[in-house]
Amino acid sequence: MTNDVYDITIIGGGPVGMFTGFYSGLREAKVQIIESLEQLGGQVMAQYPEKNILDVAGFAGVSGRELVQNLEAQLDTVPEVERHLNTKVTNVTKHEDYFEIETTQGTSKSRAVILASGNGAFHPRELRAENAEAETGKHLFYGISNLSRFAGKDVLVAGGGNSAVDMALMLEPVAHQVTLIHRRNEFRGLEKMVHQLEASSVQIVTPYLIQKLNEVDHRLQVEAKRMKTDDDFITLTVDDVVVNYGFIANNKDLEAWNVQPELEHSLVKVNRELESSVPLLFSVGDQAIYPGKDTLIATGFGEAPLAVNTIMKRLYPDRRLPIHSTSLKR
Ligand SMILES: Cc1cc2nc3c(=O)[nH]c(=O)nc-3n(C[C@H](O)[C@H](O)[C@H](O)COP(=O)(O)OP(=O)(O)OC[C@H]3O[C@@H](n4cnc5c(N)ncnc54)[C@H](O)[C@@H]3O)c2cc1C
Repeated sequence: MTNDVYDITIIGGGPVGMFTGFYSGLREAKVQIIESLEQLGGQVMAQYPEKNILDVAGFAGVSGRELVQNLEAQLDTVPEVERHLNTKVTNVTKHEDYFEIETTQGTSKSRAVILASGNGAFHPRELRAENAEAETGKHLFYGISNLSRFAGKDVLVAGGGNSAVDMALMLEPVAHQVTLIHRRNEFRGLEKMVHQLEASSVQIVTPYLIQKLNEVDHRLQVEAKRMKTDDDFITLTVDDVVVNYGFIANNKDLEAWNVQPELEHSLVKVNRELESSVPLLFSVGDQAIYPGKDTLIATGFGEAPLAVNTIMKRLYPDRRLPIHSTSLKR
């Protein structure tokens, strides 16, 4: 970070923050991306690097890792865009002409800020079961960062949303046997994924909820109770359990900042140009909310140029408006 004033500070280096950084670079803005994790890629790298993503324009399926590598390669084409990893924004204060950005690595100034911080510092919703804490990281996981870890194993996936269905399907080709346990009989995944699940070798156990984990001979005996009963238990013996009960958004940090944009369910309310109730404080990606918003990578990618171009118009009213990327690139 420098003592100069940045045009744009992007808080969050997930897929949307990365593309926003690239586009800001194309517009020759003085820009920095600040990311609290030690890697770029946000949820995609942290939660599902091995998943085949089907709904990003221009790819007939791309793994999370490959998508982030491509975003990084795109970002490399604008090397003047600064990236600060392992750096968490701890406070933002609005002054008359600039924002003061306090981080774990120092303070900087920026004329505009784009919040691309997803749901904030996210962490998985934990399994509430006996011995869950002791098994975490051993036989109990909340994400799949290395698919080969589960090769040839009997794996129990817990959860009933998109991500749980995705994980079960992701594990199916490498694991010995995948079982999906859910407390309801219905799954909330995309229709295509649910049909794929039905046609797969994934064993489905519903409506059961995990109550207890017992490690026996380096394997887990998983005790689950049938919903709406008191004493109808089953025991499944597996090597590993992967829980996908979703994530708990932790936007408490944002709520404690000096700058106070209007929020809705802890997300930043923005107008059609992605600007919050605080002038020159913008938000894109999962962090931004407006009527009809879908939290998808493609949606965030579309929001990025709109936010950046609006900021550039405001900061540099005399500059020519961009048309196509080829007319922007030197
Ligand atoms: C299992 C799963 C499967 C999914 N599948 C798909 C799919 O198939 N297609 C699709 O379009 N979408 C999918 N999504 C959703 C998609 O991942 C999100 O829409 C996307 O990641 C949003 O990107 P983002 O950059 O806005 O936020 P994020 O990816 O959440 O990145 C935000 C980044 O900001 C950082 N950050 C937060 N607070 C701070 C701070 N104070 N200081 C510094 N850094 C901070 C975080 O560390 C994080 O890296 C899936 C999500 C999950 C969990």
